[in-house]
Amino acid sequence: MKILVLNCGSSSIKYQFIDTDEKIALAKGLVERIGMSSAILTHKRYDGDEIKVVGEILDHNIAIEYVLGVMLSKNHGVIEDKKDIEAVGHRVVHGGETFSDSVFITDEVIRVLQDNIELAPLHNPPNIKGILAVKRTLPGTPQCGVFDTAFHASMPPKAYLYGIPFELYKKYKIRRYGFHGTSHFFVSMKAAEILGTDISELKIVTAHLGNGCSMAAVKNGISVDTSMGFTPLEGLLMGTRSGDLDPSLILYIMGKEGLSLNEAGTLLNKHSGLIGMSGESSDMREILSAKREQKRAKHAFDLFCYRIKKYLGAYAAAMGGLDAFVFTGGIGENSYEIREEVCKDLGFLGIEIDEERNQNKNNIISSDSSRVKVLCISTNEELVIALDTAKIVEEKMAKA
Ligand code: ADP
Repeated sequence: MKILVLNCGSSSIKYQFIDTDEKIALAKGLVERIGMSSAILTHKRYDGDEIKVVGEILDHNIAIEYVLGVMLSKNHGVIEDKKDIEAVGHRVVHGGETFSDSVFITDEVIRVLQDNIELAPLHNPPNIKGILAVKRTLPGTPQCGVFDTAFHASMPPKAYLYGIPFELYKKYKIRRYGFHGTSHFFVSMKAAEILGTDISELKIVTAHLGNGCSMAAVKNGISVDTSMGFTPLEGLLMGTRSGDLDPSLILYIMGKEGLSLNEAGTLLNKHSGLIGMSGESSDMREILSAKREQKRAKHAFDLFCYRIKKYLGAYAAAMGGLDAFVFTGGIGENSYEIREEVCKDLGFLGIEIDEERNQNKNNIISSDSSRVKVLCISTNEELVIALDTAKIVEEKMAKA
């Protein structure tokens, strides 16, 4: 099937048009600065042809119309008719406790997603806008939602509950949900494939290190724990998010600095992490070059790697062993320095990196004698979304 995959943010839409039989992207692109008069659409076709369109894209409806416009364009397009888009798959950040699997989107599903907005106030509203925009611009085209939280729905209560009064979990659904599930699923499956071992026999830790960072403990193909929690703020140090901290310090800072709830949220989500610690940048490439001269950048780098190491140890203990450790995401896939630092001195755990393989970014970067296999795998969340969408739509059509 030919599936349009959409990842709708508040001011951006990332898209890919995927042929699920060939498992290739026929086109991919990005609409940025939605809501502005000089929004930019960058569209790239499978053969390398690339165009940039600048225009007034005031909302998600217009953005989707622009995307359809370039996809249909004579010179740069990949389809002749809107009908060539057989279905649309959406990345939806938060499925709450309702959606533990991908879903065919109906009006009832949209209503439940709207009910879940409170759990993901930043992410779910633009996801819903994208769904409604497709409903308008591609009427009748089947749509599916694939949730960032779904892969982690298998976690046991001891991993997803917090040590707070149980009534609060019941009342507000306050629990660990975890995110980046599509990526953790994809790279753990891929790792098993590369190692030639059935995933049901493997204990894998996956580290998705991008602007947002999270790790997962994947035991026999099932996520049993993950570092992001109720929201994507918990866990590892990230570009602009603090990750783990003592909850009391939030109250302390709010009191000392006279911050409102919103301001405290902004401090921890937007001004902490690499940018807050270094004062330089949220971009790991800049931290890596600044750390040679600047202490604060060095601290940020050290803390970033140290925390990954701690979670790795914790998850190996949680699973009662470790067979493979996977790096993915912009940082995980591209920075040999981070991978080297994280894996340093882990011989006791059976981890031994091969320097050359690591620098060459091989799929397997551990030495032949390393008991635990360390891998570097490019994630492909869009392909997972497209494949799930095709499966759901085909099943639906077979039943009809
Ligand atoms: P997102 O989470 O938004 O999808 P990515 O997965 O693309 O983001 O990751 C972005 C991060 O990857 C940034 O911190 C960027 O600095 C980092 N990155 C990209 N290339 C490199 C590189 N060669 N070395 C180190 N970090 C890199």
